[in-house]
Amino acid sequence: MTKQVRHLFEKIPQPVLAFLESSSFSSLSKTRQVHAQIIKHGAQDYAIFATNLIASYSNHHCFADAEHVLGSIQEPTVHSFSPLIYALNRYNHFSQSIRVFSRMMSNGVSPDTRVLPNLFKACAGLSALEVGKQIHCIACVLGLDLDPFVQDSLFHMYMKCDRMGDAREVFDRISQKDVVTCSALLCGYARKGCSDEVMGLLVEMEKLGVEPNLVSWNGILSGFNHIGCHKEAVMMFQKMHSEGFCPNEVTVSSILPAVGNSEKLDLGRQIHGYVTKQGLIKDKCVASAMVDMYGKCGSGYEILKLYDEIELRETGVSNACITGLSRNGLVDKALEMFELFKEQKLELNVVSWTSIIAGCAQNGKDIEALELFREMQVAGVKPNSVTIPSMLPACGNIAALIHGKAAHGYSVRAGTMDDVHVGSALIDMYAKCGRINMSQLIFFMMPTKNLVCWNSMMAGYAMHGKCSEVIGIFNSLRKTGLKPDFISFTCLLAACSQGGLTDEGWKYFNMMSEEYGIKPRLEHYACMVNLLGRAGKLEEAYDMIKGMPFESDACVWGALLSSCRVHNNVDLGEIAAENLFKLEPENPGNYVLLSNIYASKGMWTKVDMVRDMMKSLGLKKNPGCSWIQVKNKLHMLLAGDNTHPEMNRITEKLVEIGMEMRKSGYHPNLDFVLQDVEEQEKEHILCGHSEKLAVVFGLLNTPKGTPLQVIKNLRICGDCHSVIKFISGYASREIFVRDTNRFHHFRDGHCSCGDFW
Ligand code: ZN
Ligand code: ZN
Repeated sequence: MTKQVRHLFEKIPQPVLAFLESSSFSSLSKTRQVHAQIIKHGAQDYAIFATNLIASYSNHHCFADAEHVLGSIQEPTVHSFSPLIYALNRYNHFSQSIRVFSRMMSNGVSPDTRVLPNLFKACAGLSALEVGKQIHCIACVLGLDLDPFVQDSLFHMYMKCDRMGDAREVFDRISQKDVVTCSALLCGYARKGCSDEVMGLLVEMEKLGVEPNLVSWNGILSGFNHIGCHKEAVMMFQKMHSEGFCPNEVTVSSILPAVGNSEKLDLGRQIHGYVTKQGLIKDKCVASAMVDMYGKCGSGYEILKLYDEIELRETGVSNACITGLSRNGLVDKALEMFELFKEQKLELNVVSWTSIIAGCAQNGKDIEALELFREMQVAGVKPNSVTIPSMLPACGNIAALIHGKAAHGYSVRAGTMDDVHVGSALIDMYAKCGRINMSQLIFFMMPTKNLVCWNSMMAGYAMHGKCSEVIGIFNSLRKTGLKPDFISFTCLLAACSQGGLTDEGWKYFNMMSEEYGIKPRLEHYACMVNLLGRAGKLEEAYDMIKGMPFESDACVWGALLSSCRVHNNVDLGEIAAENLFKLEPENPGNYVLLSNIYASKGMWTKVDMVRDMMKSLGLKKNPGCSWIQVKNKLHMLLAGDNTHPEMNRITEKLVEIGMEMRKSGYHPNLDFVLQDVEEQEKEHILCGHSEKLAVVFGLLNTPKGTPLQVIKNLRICGDCHSVIKFISGYASREIFVRDTNRFHHFRDGHCSCGDFW
């Protein structure tokens, strides 16, 4: 102690000295008092006083005061800076802590082995790799990089910054490797999917005498699971088990998703046995992971059994049940369970509601999906950006435009319109509801588009038979640099086939593999067969099927059979039908098509034969059925349904229209009647087609000029097509008809499909 300092000590009152010498600090006000005393006695220049003050201010969160004191020291040391750096780190003020460090360096003060770990921790917290590397260099120059605490913090910094190579280098230099560091490295390798490195490190650990513990194994499993390396996760789980480790809750919840995704049902059942024996099923993560695993392995019924075993009634587990059951087509069971949850007053969150809504929409329960969406809002649960795209397909399927519009409005208010999933689902919904202009508008307004958005727009245009628009969108898509996928080409080929663009069809079919390396799939062949078939090139279509590199499926043969129906080709029609009878013996549509071909040629014995075949198989013709929305209510009309209360009015109107049509030179196309009956009777049967009934029902029940929208569960027949065309002109109505294949937009006596569908 210099003379000067000793002199100062003599002047400063005893309590202040006591404070300065003690390392524990009392209150902030005490600190301030002492600070004032120091200034009063002109002692602030002396590092020994200042360091304690800095520490005191830092511990009281007064970083500005601490920095102020730091600035007043003429010759600060590392001990002047370190308390501030520690405190800043402790409160996660990482960038401030790095800033203080750089101030320290510019004062010519070097870090020590106590401050360095704090700096690496700050770099890790900021993922500031470059800064971290520079500090690493400084540590090397100072010869401090062999300190175990420095090494440890450096290792974790590199791990955090995702630099496995650098982390490994540090790891290799650590002299005393412990299980914690090894586990961290194992987990890091697993998260990168590096199974060789994981295995190698396990061998190395054995040599070093470091035994992996449960934490190490769980880290490996969750790492592989995280990155989707399911096979590796399952393999490591088996290794872990063979080495005598007993999985705990964490292990089981990490491995089950991998088991589910790789559909290893047997292993899943074994784990289930273990879980039951160990009583782990009481853990909610284990329980939901188990349900999820069965769902992914395709055993919906095992979920039901499992649910009885799980005593825990908890939201996460319940959500997993709903999703698992819906995924396996057991949507009725899912609905039943959901009702039960409501009765049991279980807390249902947005995930619960979204799961059941999605389950319904994906399994043909469209009306239920819409009803649940309404109920969810009544229950006060706010839909999110997953809920909306889950319910919109239901609106599209049944053309429930009003519900779709409401969901659109909701997304605008909730600010989720920029979400690509919401946007794509809206494009699709409006297209299916016949409002292709709205789809277009949403598409063009989307700030960012992914491939799903582009594909939805192309599919929408294709459904409406707008070929040139589909091609236009496709060309714009190519300009964006996004790579079209097989779905893009399906839309494109479907559009070409609907528009009868044979040359373009071939062009894109070849482009798909030559330019984009996409191997044509069955659906692409089906489009091509359709395209060739519609153009009357039936032999060429048949050659294409024969030349396919894989077995043809029902879609491809179905395309040929439908084309044979259009061109009344008996020989190829019989070949196609024979194959279809093998592939899907219970689909009545195929028998009807073949029978139609025979009927068109007057081959009535063959017609009878087909009918007998259907009868012996117990098949009934799928009844034609159409829906129309009038005054917010969906009305269903069945072919030949005499029980409908308005049937008399509808028939009268049809007769009137028929007379008008005949006046303008129209004759009904009697080819479209299946039965072997007298000509006049045939005309009567044609009158009963559901799409025509629905259109006339709409005419009678809506004000003049209202557009009509009809959905049909089968393909529209040629006769109905002509009649509806006539009605659109005669009654001056826009009429949208959506059949299983596409949209027909009738206006002023014409249809958007150009009579080609
Ligand atoms: Zn018809
Ligand atoms: Zn049409």
